[in-house]
This record gives sequence, C-alpha cells and structure tokens, in this order.
Amino acid sequence: MKYIGAHVSAAGGVDQAVIRAHELEATAFALFTKNQRQWKAAPLSAATIDAFKAACEKYNFGPQQILPHDSFLINLGHPVMDALEKSRAAFIDEMQRAEQLGLTLLNFHPGSHLNQIEEEACLKRIAESVNIALDKTSQVVAVIENTAGQGSNLGFRFEHLATIIEHVEDKSRVGVCIDTCHAFAGGYDLRTEAACEETFAAFERIVGLQYLRGMHLNDAKSAFGSRVDRHHSLGEGNIGKTVFSWLMKDARFDGIPLILETINPDIWKDEIAWLKSEQKS
Ligand SMILES: [Zn+2]
Ligand SMILES: [Zn+2]
Repeated sequence: MKYIGAHVSAAGGVDQAVIRAHELEATAFALFTKNQRQWKAAPLSAATIDAFKAACEKYNFGPQQILPHDSFLINLGHPVMDALEKSRAAFIDEMQRAEQLGLTLLNFHPGSHLNQIEEEACLKRIAESVNIALDKTSQVVAVIENTAGQGSNLGFRFEHLATIIEHVEDKSRVGVCIDTCHAFAGGYDLRTEAACEETFAAFERIVGLQYLRGMHLNDAKSAFGSRVDRHHSLGEGNIGKTVFSWLMKDARFDGIPLILETINPDIWKDEIAWLKSEQKS
C-alpha cells in the first residue's frame, strides 16, 4: 500500500493540515508543527492536540502516513557550542511536539559544518544531537533527509547518512527520508529505470532500505550533480516522470509517507491522482 500526499500548510492550526490533505485526496501528508522560520512557538494546547487527533481519525490518517518536518533554522551539526545548544533545544521541542500529536516520525535536515569543522566531526555531532533528543522522547523516530549539498550542508552522500546512523545509539529510532530532487542534485541519477535501480542499489548497500522511513517526491529545476536545491513539479524538471512511475510500482516503497514538495500546490491534487494511477498501469 502506497501512502501518497504533499507537504500541506498548517495555517489556522495543525488540524487544518489534516483537512487540506483530505481535500487533496491524499493518503499521506507532511506539515510543520510550528512556524518553520521561527525559533520559538507556543506549546501545543490540549485543544489543538485533540483537534489534530480527531481530524486524523476522521480522515483515516495513521502515524505511519504523517511525516512532520522540523524548522529550517535548526543545525544539529553546528560548529559553535552556543548555537549547537540552541538547535538541540529546538530539535527536542520539535520531537516532543510530534510525540504530543501522537506521531512517530520527524523529518530533519542533518546539518552544516559552516566550513569550521571537518565533515566527520560534524556528522558525529549530528548523531550526538539525535542521541540527546531520543533520550528526551520515547516514540518518535528521527528521520534524516538527504540534502542537495548546497553550501556546507552535509547529507548529500549516502555515506553521510550511514555515518550518522552508525553513531546513533538506538538504531530502531533513526531513519532516512530520500528526497528525489536532493538526490539528483547530489549526484544520484534517477532519469531512467536503470539509473533508479542503480541509485537505490547504492542506497541499500551503503545505508540499508530498512532505514527508509519516508520519501519526498520532487522533480528538479537544478541540474544533475549541481548541488543546488531547486524543486520542480513532476515531469517538468530535469529528472522527468520515469522515477515517479517507477517508485509507484515498486513494493519497497510501500507503507511509508511519499510526500510532494513540488512548487505548484494548485496541481498537487492532480499529481497525487497521477501517482496513484501509476501504481496499476
Ligand atoms: Zn526537507
Ligand atoms: Zn525534501
């Protein structure tokens, strides 16, 4: 069973995100549980939590179909201790918010070394940040997203993801989300079925498919291997539609949220319908 949806707005409250996902005829969704461009947010009220849970029940979304995304400000590999502490505190808050909502996944970008520490040291620092957050929560899995590798962002090589996982103590609570645009910009080809097979064989060899807990389905405005993060609508960019129809037919991608972060929300409903139709064709 494929769970297919989009990263919907939570404007008006997190329960509104559930309704928006339902309106798209989605079977999965992503959301921010707080403003993603601010450090602080009011705690989730009991009423908000109840409204979210009630909406999920009404519209048939279970925790395995929902992939919350953390704030863009957080850098769990920050080279400067004060800033690292601030990010770690914010990440713990994100994990706790997910947990309060009854969710079991939190998608995050690994972090950046800002050219101040070595890659390896940064990756270990990220893993330590994850260990701290796992210790403060009990059910949420920290889901590392691969990146395009812009600037000094790590996570654009599968080896980076593997190194972080290696240093996370509780392997049952760490996972990976593969963003197709980021993978392509990071140098993993997805333009043909053969290229898709090769890319996911590399993922299996280096990370392991058992860690795959979600995917972001995006075409790319950016060029192959450019390390530039620019999403596009499915079939409109440099990757093309092949990978998306290939994913829909492959059972290895069942049971995890498959989330559009494509640039035109007006066509999300059509994109979701098309993805669903590709499962059978
Ligand atoms: Zn992301
Ligand atoms: Zn993404």
